Amino acid sequence: MTISIHQYLCLTDNYGALVHDPATGATACVDVPEAGPTFAALAERGWTPTDILITHHHADHIQGVPDVKAKFPNVKIWGPAKDAARIPFLDHKLREGDTAQVGSLTATVIETPGHTTGHIVYHFEKDDVAFCGDTLFSLGCGRVIETPLSVMWSSLAKLTVLPGQTRVYCGHEYTEANGRFAATIEPHNPVLKARIEDVAKLRAERRPTVPTTIAAELAANPFLRVEEPAIQAAVGMSGADPAAVFGEIRTRKDRF
Ligand SMILES: [Zn+2]
Repeated sequence: MTISIHQYLCLTDNYGALVHDPATGATACVDVPEAGPTFAALAERGWTPTDILITHHHADHIQGVPDVKAKFPNVKIWGPAKDAARIPFLDHKLREGDTAQVGSLTATVIETPGHTTGHIVYHFEKDDVAFCGDTLFSLGCGRVIETPLSVMWSSLAKLTVLPGQTRVYCGHEYTEANGRFAATIEPHNPVLKARIEDVAKLRAERRPTVPTTIAAELAANPFLRVEEPAIQAAVGMSGADPAAVFGEIRTRKDRF
């Protein structure tokens, strides 16, 4: 039996996700942006949480954790070892290459410093699913807050080599705004144009635009395309180091 995923909206534009293993009944919350919608999602599916997988320390990703733990005291909490001081309730402290277990499902940990120093991505390799938190967004990437810009590029580069069919779950619904910015970098990219049209239709119906896939992002997300000659030319940096091109594009996005 394969992984079952339930994504739900929290706060204004945060996504929480439930990962369920039909074989064992185990269920993990991937981040808990808000307790109420998380309890509602669990009740809707009839799932009991066994684990919580935390991507990073920001309040809009962990503030619901104490409430879930209070209601389900046996829940085990997994998260980044490097941020253990800022995520005080971890049972399992994870580093690059470690695995997190949700019943019979296994996620490999990819450390992706940039948005925060401790940020991690959970890659369910056998299931072709990655929970990318605030590192990779559909048509965008997280704001680089706690490291130099080049470190964030190194983190994103680790995600570009995941299989193209990998479904990417993101921490926020930012695709529409990200698309507006991406179009300023690559206005003539046909894949980007088509994606922007699809996203507009989905959002008009208030439907989510994530998950996306690694292949879709490689074709349209300017932050993953900094090695492309067309992108480099567009920002006047032909032949430049990809990390520098990334830094330029990220800086433009911050001002956008
Ligand atoms: Zn964040």
